[in-house]
Amino acid sequence: MDLEHERRLRDFQAGKPQMTVAIARTSNEVVFFPTRDVSSTKEAQAAYRELVGEELRCVVPSCDDSRLTAVFLREGTNHFRHLTKDVLHDAESLLHHIGKRVLAHHPQSTT
Ligand SMILES: [Zn+2]
Repeated sequence: MDLEHERRLRDFQAGKPQMTVAIARTSNEVVFFPTRDVSSTKEAQAAYRELVGEELRCVVPSCDDSRLTAVFLREGTNHFRHLTKDVLHDAESLLHHIGKRVLAHHPQSTT
C-alpha cells in the first residue's frame, strides 16, 4: 500500500471522505473533479474555483448551504468542499449520496 493510499484510508476511517463529485446546478448532472488541466497554474485554479462557485452544488439534496469551492492539494487529492466550513455532513451520508449519484451516472449494463 503506497503512502497516498494509506493517507486516504486513514482519512476515510477517520470519517473524512473527500467530495470528488458535485452536481451541476442547471442540468442536475454529476460532475467529477477533473484529474488534470485545471490545476496547471494558479490562474487556472482560480478560474476553476470561480466556475465551481457559479455552476456546481453539493451532492446532498438537503444541504443547508450547497455552495462549493475547489481545493487543490496535489494530483489525486484535489476535491470539492463547501464554500463555508460550517457545513458538515455525516461521512456515511455524504458517501451514500456520492455513491448513489455516481452509480446513477453510469450507463446500465446490457448483459
Ligand atoms: Zn452539502
